[in-house]
Amino acid sequence: MNVRHAGIGMTSQRTRGRMVERLRTQGIRDEVVLAAMNAVPRHIFVDEALGTRAYDDVSLPIGHAQTISQPYIVARMIEIMRNGGQLNRVLEIGTGCGYQAAVLGQVACEVYSVERIQPLYKRATASLQELKARNVVLSYADGTMGRPEIAPFDGIIMAAAATHVPQALLGQLAVGGRMVLPLGAQEQVLTLIERDENGYIESRLEAVKFVPILTGKA
Ligand code: SAH
Repeated sequence: MNVRHAGIGMTSQRTRGRMVERLRTQGIRDEVVLAAMNAVPRHIFVDEALGTRAYDDVSLPIGHAQTISQPYIVARMIEIMRNGGQLNRVLEIGTGCGYQAAVLGQVACEVYSVERIQPLYKRATASLQELKARNVVLSYADGTMGRPEIAPFDGIIMAAAATHVPQALLGQLAVGGRMVLPLGAQEQVLTLIERDENGYIESRLEAVKFVPILTGKA
């Protein structure tokens, strides 16, 4: 056990338990998602200096002008995508620190996550290795192109806001699949896109605040 895991003892498990109770009061109902949030140590994904705030319901800076999403929004997006069903293969655009990818790894068989900022990609790779999250595969690329070579996906989550749905991603959603993303510029709305045999159905869910999606690699 290394130093960063020292806090995984009772203290952080209790703190995580309190986070999960708070998620329940905030309306998260999916027990599979709540169990996943209870299982993943969030503090290893943030700077040690911010460790005491890791389980607060806030987003926190992770460097490179990016943030780790607040626990509520991570749980909410996964709950919406899962919709109580089984997930085989899922795609995340915007790995950031890798926290949401780790939570996804608890609810889906295979997780693919793409990040455009190389130092974040490297750090997330190290954190997920530390957690032995072997079903989570990261790549360093512009995620708006998706992963056509391994599509289709049962679920797609975008962790950065776009003004329109990237066309490439729509095509990589399986029939019966669900995509969850923040849409909009100043005013963003969490949006669900469901694909059925006739096409795509879009539902607008709740106001959110995400960093913008950017193109190219950095
Ligand atoms: N999923 C993270 C949140 C990451 S914040 C969590 O667990 O908290 C959003 C991330 O999306 C940032 O790291 C940003 O660099 C990344 N991003 C923005 N545009 C992107 C793109 N086109 N391709 C891949 N990643 C992108």
